[in-house]
Amino acid sequence: MSGLDIVLLGTGSPLPDPHRAGPSTLVRGEGLHLLVDAGRGVVMRLAGAGVIPPFLNAILLTHLHSDHICDLNDVITTHWVMSPVTVPLHVYGPVGTQVVIDGLLAMLAPDISYRINHHDDLNEAPHVIVTEVVPGDSFEVAGATVRVGGTNHLPVEPTVGFRITAHGVDVVLAGDGVPCEQLDDLVQDADAYVQTVLRADLVALVPRARFQDILDYHSTVQQAAETAERGRVRTLVLTHYVPAPGLGDYDEWRAMASPFSGTLVTGDDLTLCHVDPAP
Ligand SMILES: [Zn+2]
Ligand SMILES: [Zn+2]
Repeated sequence: MSGLDIVLLGTGSPLPDPHRAGPSTLVRGEGLHLLVDAGRGVVMRLAGAGVIPPFLNAILLTHLHSDHICDLNDVITTHWVMSPVTVPLHVYGPVGTQVVIDGLLAMLAPDISYRINHHDDLNEAPHVIVTEVVPGDSFEVAGATVRVGGTNHLPVEPTVGFRITAHGVDVVLAGDGVPCEQLDDLVQDADAYVQTVLRADLVALVPRARFQDILDYHSTVQQAAETAERGRVRTLVLTHYVPAPGLGDYDEWRAMASPFSGTLVTGDDLTLCHVDPAP
């Protein structure tokens, strides 16, 4: 198969929603399964996409905000118990990822001991290999080249985006943040660019300071469209919708992306976008 699939596993946000899992995206190609972020319900949505955690070649974390990592422990446990022999789970993320993984493994310690004591064929704890990355790094996973770029989600830092090159296409997962030069550089001429977005017009209506605070560190739909257009991206994929679009609302969201002249993808959990090599 040439090209890559982008599957929006979770299109929600920290706001609980019965129909939207938390932020996570699957990038899939021949022999390749990369999970980007691991928000609420990620393992259920992976199953919905026909993927179990042992299939994953690696997990890439854009940042350590809870909505992006809150079900990482479930990925670790399920990867561990479903693998016939203990195999390493590779996690790439910004500086601080090792501390988070150490904490998750400490939290899982009772469960790990129960299962090792109970199952004769399970003798080792989960083997999670963390690689902390900074903008400018690149690494190889299962034949894919992954380039790490900077993003601007201040005051949250460090945060990173990933440009995955495999099977003839370049796909960028930007995570959360507002437009910046480093992001422009990361998305330049990409075949697809996945951006988390909010509707500033709707968020501005909520009379709570804590809600207003999110306006200054997330791209609006229009900003995502402008970044994509500047970068001459072929396909822009929107996710992590704040607030969640209701039935029939996507048209409004799409209209706000009018600065972008390429292919625009919006949708609910498990929306699949196949990215073919440029003709
Ligand atoms: Zn965030
Ligand atoms: Zn987020």
